[in-house]
Order: sequence, then structure tokens, then C-alpha cells
Amino acid sequence: SEQKQTLGFQAEVKQLLQLMIHSLYSNKEIFLRELISNASDAADKLRFEAINNGALFENDPDLKIKVSFDKEARTITISDNGIGMTRDDAVEHLGTIAKSGTKEFFSKLSGDQQKDAALIGQFGVGFYSGFIIADRITVETRRAGTAANAGVRWESEGAGDFTVEAIDKANRGTDIILHLREGEDEFLSSWKLKSIIRKYSDHISLPIMMQKEEWDEEKKETVVRDEWETINQASALWARSKNEITPEQYIEFYKHVSHDFGEPLTYTHNRVEGRSEYTQLLYIPSQAPFDLWDRNKRGGIKLYVKRVFIMDDAEQLMPVYLRFVKGVIDSADLPLNVSREILQESRDVKVIREGSTKRVLSMLEELANSDEQADKDKYITFWNAFGQVLKEGIGEDATNKERIAKLLRFASTHNDSDAQTVSFADYIARMKEGQSKIYYATGESYNAAKNSPHLEIFRKKGIEVLLLTDRVDEWMLSFLEDFDGKELSSVAKGDLDLGELEDEAEKKQHQETEDQYKELVAKMQTALADKAKEVRITFRLTDSPACLVAGEDELSGNLMRMLKAAGQ
Ligand code: ADP
Ligand code: MG
Repeated sequence: SEQKQTLGFQAEVKQLLQLMIHSLYSNKEIFLRELISNASDAADKLRFEAINNGALFENDPDLKIKVSFDKEARTITISDNGIGMTRDDAVEHLGTIAKSGTKEFFSKLSGDQQKDAALIGQFGVGFYSGFIIADRITVETRRAGTAANAGVRWESEGAGDFTVEAIDKANRGTDIILHLREGEDEFLSSWKLKSIIRKYSDHISLPIMMQKEEWDEEKKETVVRDEWETINQASALWARSKNEITPEQYIEFYKHVSHDFGEPLTYTHNRVEGRSEYTQLLYIPSQAPFDLWDRNKRGGIKLYVKRVFIMDDAEQLMPVYLRFVKGVIDSADLPLNVSREILQESRDVKVIREGSTKRVLSMLEELANSDEQADKDKYITFWNAFGQVLKEGIGEDATNKERIAKLLRFASTHNDSDAQTVSFADYIARMKEGQSKIYYATGESYNAAKNSPHLEIFRKKGIEVLLLTDRVDEWMLSFLEDFDGKELSSVAKGDLDLGELEDEAEKKQHQETEDQYKELVAKMQTALADKAKEVRITFRLTDSPACLVAGEDELSGNLMRMLKAAGQ
């Protein structure tokens, strides 16, 4: 048509396509899962918009996904009657990557296929995965509620560019037509496609349909009939009872809601009744997403009301410090036309958020306190990926502060390693007789903290010190004064008082030393008057001659450095 236009892919798309085709080939059947996942999202979006505008259904309210194939043409088609796309939507969504974390993702690629395959998975493969098995993809789509002549055909060979042109399309929604590469004919089979759908997409809540096949006696071959059957269970997974759901189904559902390629670390599925009635299916991912530190990052919870999708990233349903949690919350109480503004105010939402927060913390406690090594390992995996985020909870969630404090893990002088594995309870169990405080050192890095001169006296006395080196630590510590009745005490602050840990002989000797150097100290005090608030004899050093300490109520050196770096 005269309106056909050729446009270039964004540079990152080209790179992603190259990578994906090469590093995901061994897992190529996932293309179907990704395309069905998109079709399901499109149906969710339509159902949501239709709450306020029933006309969008165009007299075709039964949302479904159809998968078909054509042996002669060597094509597979995935059709949905969901929200569809306008020309601009198609250009934007199928020609660029809008995701946050894109830049970081591309900077991490190494060229090593296996490593990059894992990274791509983490990044999310999506629509472009069709190019693993297709050397051309045609997308025909029309946005719900637009005229029949407002359709658009998008087409690409997955190299540098794509075309878009206007078409007539009678039915709203999207058809994705995959033109198979040479050698991919195994997918032109009902049996093959059905088994992939059952394996990866059974949890999709709308029907995924295929044409029936039947043996033709005369032709001596199976022929495709014009009658459609549903291949999946087609009911919302979270609404089924737990004992009807296999672990594999839970995992595939996770991949669908999270757009993550990897498996979750753990999950929890509950129906809650009481003040508020809702179902929660919540997952902890195994890996941090690329945009974990993005302040504008969307949350990971999809909100449904009585099975109807309402919104992605409903951040009001989970506190910010649990933003890594993915999953679905389905409320029986909220109105269908709930808006973000209403969510902000809603008491039901508050109840759900409190309940979900407790659930997530229990899920983490189960791993952390388990006797099974596999669970303990999972907790460490969790901690390494999300521990720094969880720490934000110490300052943000006063109600659950103690529970969160129990989940914290630190590097410590007890283990000669930067691995964060020591809990406060571990520390307390190893405290010396007469020791009443939990000692910690902060620093810019593990090595800096470990080699701090402030630790010398603790080493000498065999007292364990926790080594805190994450950016959030100083901030977190300002909300955490004690644990289990034991004061948290910085080794770098104020006048170190080891109290009961010093014996009488030591105390006497210290007194003598102080008397002996009184004059020298006074002279130094005068000489350094504009640099140091106070000069005093210390017994905390064993090898170093001097060190700087912060006053009891002052910012520590490390925090001052951080604030300076942040331009404060
Ligand atoms: P993601 O699903 O993570 O957003 P994808 O690469 O799978 O990423 O899809 C990119 C975008 O293309 C989707 O977000 C959506 O806007 C659009 N899209 C893809 N498939 C469809 C479809 N079947 N119907 C409507 N929009 C679609
Ligand atoms: Mg997708």
C-alpha cells in the first residue's frame, strides 16, 4: 500500500535480536509461551478498559487465544481478541525497548553465550523471541474501539528494520504470524504445539484454543477440522485450590506475571478471609532485576478484583522495601472501577498491604530458620540479591522492625570472608562473658572495614565485630539502636568503653598512662585546636599510632563521605 513505511529498529533491539537468536536456541520453544503471555496481557488490558467502556468489546466479549498452523505456508499464527495496537503502538512497542535497566543490561553482556543467555533471561525476552524460530514475523493488529480500516500490518525479518502499513481488519486484536526458518518444521504439528502450551501456558486464565484433528480414512492422514477445542485449564491459577496446582504450574505462572525467565526462589499462595477478603499468590525472585535501584521502578504486584485484571505494579499493595516481590493479589472487596487514587485511600488496601507484608516476612523467615540446607542456601541467595533493599524496611516499617532485624545478615570478623551470613542471633550466641553490646564497624568496602585501626583492640580481645559496608547501612543504623536488648555500638564512635571486658590491671595501667601523658595531650590539643575537637589517649589501638573518631552524636566518617559524594 502507498502508506507502507520502513523504519529502523532501535540499536538495542538489533543487539537483543542477535543475541537472543544465538543464545536461546537450545530453549527455542519458549517463543510460544512469550507470545501467549502477551496475548493474555492484551486480553487483561481490554477487560480492564471495558469496565468503563463496554463498546470496546465490539459484540465479541468472549476473550480467547487461538493457535493455528499451516503446513504448506510453513506458518504458525497466534491470534487474540484483546486490546490490539494502533500504528503508533506497534512502532513503539515492537520497535524499541522501553524498559528501565536497558542500558545496564547491555553494559553487562560479555559475549560469552552461556552467560549472556542467563542475562537475557533475566532481562526478559518477550515478543522478539519469535525470531528464534521465524525468519519473518507478520503482525496484524487493530486497537479495540477503532474502525475496521484502522488496522496495521507490521512486518520484519528481525535484522535491522521493519515495515508498517495500514490494513483493514474486521476483528479487533492481534494476529502474530511466524514464518518458520528452514529446519523448524517440527513446530508444524498439533501434538507438538499442544504439548508446549500445556507445559508453559496451562495457567493462562483465558482459553487457548486449537483446531481439532481427526484421522481421515480415505486420505490416510490426520486432517484439521474447523472446530476449536480448549487446550489449557483456562481458569485463573490463583483461584484454584493449592492441591490442584503443580510446582511446575506455579513456576510457569511466575514467569508470566514477572516477565522473568528464571525460576522463583519461593512462593506463597493463600486465600485470606476476615476484615478483607482476598487471594494472594506472591513470589520471591532468585535474581535481582536490572532496575532494582531505579527509583521510578514499578512494583511487581498485579491487582485483580474478582478475577478481573485492574492494574500492573499496584505499589500500594506492598511496601517499597518489598518491591522485589512479584505476584497477584485478587480482592473480593474493592470496586471494579478502583483507581490509583482510591487505592491510596482505601482501608481494604491497607489491610491487604499489612497482610501481604506479614506473609512475605514469614516466607523469608521460613527459609532463614529452616533446618534444611537447601532452604538456608536459598535464604543466602535471597539475601545477596535483595538484602540491601530489605534493610530499607528497618527505617520504613516500624511495626515489623524487629522481624526484619532478625532477617539481617552481615559480614563479620568471625568469618574471614566478605560473605554476609551472620545474624544478630549468631553474634549474640558468641558474645564474650561480660560483653553487653553488639559491636560493628562501617566502611566503604569490606577491606576498608576489616582493616580499620578501630578493630585492633577487638581483635586482641577476641571480640567479634560486624562489618557493615552497604550504602544503606549507616542510614539503617540510625533506626536500629539495639537488638534483643543489646545496644548496637560503633567501634569508631566516641570514647570506647569496653566496660566489663577490661580487667582491673588494665584499668589501672590505663590510668597511669593517661597521667603520664597529660602534658603531651594538652600540647597537642592546643596545636590541633582548629582541626580536632578533642585529643585523647586511646587504648583501642594496638598497631596504629593514632586514629580519628566521631563524637557520640556525630555523623560517622563513612556517612560524611557518603553525604559529600551525594553532594550534600
Ligand atoms: P512485555 O510483555 O514484557 O511488555 P514484550 O516484548 O513481550 O514485552 O512485548 C512488548 C509490548 O508489545 C507489550 O508490552 C505490548 O505493549 C505489545 N504487544 C505485544 N504483543 C501484543 C499483543 N498480542 N497485543 C497487544 N499488544 C502487544
Ligand atoms: Mg511479553
